[in-house]
Amino acid sequence: MKNIYIIANWKMQLNLKESIDLFNNIKQKFSHSEDVETVICPSYISLPDINRCKGGSKIRLGAQDVFWEDVGAYTGEISCEMLKDVGCNYTIIGHSDRRKYFKESDEMAHYKLRTVLKNSLVPIVCVGETFQERQEGKKEYAVISQITKAMSGIDLLGTEEIIVAYEPIWVIGSGRAINAEEAEYMHQVIKQALIDIFPVDITEKCFRIIYGGSINQTNIKTFLVQPNIKGVLVGGASLNPDEFLGIVSEAKREKCY
Ligand code: PEP
Repeated sequence: MKNIYIIANWKMQLNLKESIDLFNNIKQKFSHSEDVETVICPSYISLPDINRCKGGSKIRLGAQDVFWEDVGAYTGEISCEMLKDVGCNYTIIGHSDRRKYFKESDEMAHYKLRTVLKNSLVPIVCVGETFQERQEGKKEYAVISQITKAMSGIDLLGTEEIIVAYEPIWVIGSGRAINAEEAEYMHQVIKQALIDIFPVDITEKCFRIIYGGSINQTNIKTFLVQPNIKGVLVGGASLNPDEFLGIVSEAKREKCY
């Protein structure tokens, strides 16, 4: 696995031309570092064109979602194989948008995780508490429950790569990230939840935990100096090429060891 992951989620914000233009803009000024993996998750429909534009660039591609079956009569769904066909190495699973608007459950996240690992894609599993859960003192319970339901029963050999994105739901898109020390604490909670399921050495080898929620090129530094925060999932700021490249540059500067 890499030291640091910078993952852009473009959501449903751009049409095809805008997606290609943004990708080319980022690609032109992008400089790769072995320590920092940069992943862009555009819309499904722009993936084939962006994959063609990618050429030899070290920017990686991911999807924003995937279905848990390999093939069949599942109208509207996209399989892992289809994602690999268009150059994806990664896929987001269980983003809070999907949980909120499409009623995706932890059980669905579990099915997706199984299939994604079987198909050798790297899952980015999103977890995080609502504001209400936090106010009620249930933030730890909320993320431990999401992790346990998604991960229990998964057998790992030690060669798999799994990214867990801790995203406090109430912070996403708000323009105000949580305090980095608080995020670090929640990363420790997630790490312990993983260690309660998998052996410690497997957890160390297979997992990276990253933070998501109103990250920009100014606040990223405070997160990456935390020992357990191994990258960021970026929404809004990833739509601005200079801002996104600024985030990637800060990651290279802060944590290339
Ligand atoms: C997200 O949607 O996962 C996200 C982190 O968005 P933003 O960076 O805009 O808060």
